[in-house]
Order: sequence, then C-alpha cells, then structure tokens
Amino acid sequence: MKRPPFEVADIIRAHGNSFVEKNRAWLTWLHLRVLSAIEHCRTAALGGHRDRCRQCGHEAISFNSCRSRHCPKCQTNARDKWLAGRSQELLPVVRLPISPVNASAYGRPRAKPIF
Ligand SMILES: [Zn+2]
Repeated sequence: MKRPPFEVADIIRAHGNSFVEKNRAWLTWLHLRVLSAIEHCRTAALGGHRDRCRQCGHEAISFNSCRSRHCPKCQTNARDKWLAGRSQELLPVVRLPISPVNASAYGRPRAKPIF
C-alpha cells in the first residue's frame, strides 16, 4: 500500500500545539486525547510488535496503532470493508448527482399553502 504524501498525523505534529493554544477555551480533554492518539498512532511512542507469516515464516516489525475510532489510519480498513459491503447492496442503476440547489427540480413541487 502506498503511503500518502501527507497524513492527518503529520498536520497534527506540525500545527497541533499552536492549534491547542489558540483554541484551549473550547477544547475538552477528549479532543486532546484524540489529537494525541492520532499523532502517536503507529509510531515508536506506542511500542511495536512482530508479525510472522505462518506459511513462509517471514517476519515484520510494526508499530502499534492507537485503535481510536477517530483515527483515519486505524479506521481505513473498517471504512473500506463497510463501503464494499454497502456497494454490494446498491441496485444496478445509473446514478445522477443531485445537489440541494437543484434537488427541488427532481422532487415533489412545493406544497400549496393551506390558507
Ligand atoms: Zn490510529
């Protein structure tokens, strides 16, 4: 899998402290915990583990993940599985993108006033 050029963790590392200082008035401990989890996900800060293939015996060392439901790295597999499952449920029809601006053109005309 190709690593993207920038990750959310990179942005938090670069600008997280200044963001927290500027917005400390409304940030809660939960916000700070999520920022910390994303920042340290899959780094040496959370430790690591060794994976070993049962068939060929190949070993690889990986950093531990934060397992936060807000972390984009940790939720990528879950999101991809969910999207694959939902795409199986779609009907084989042509889909037209409809924005809220032009939705009324496809929907029911405005209801007439009662009074
Ligand atoms: Zn994570």
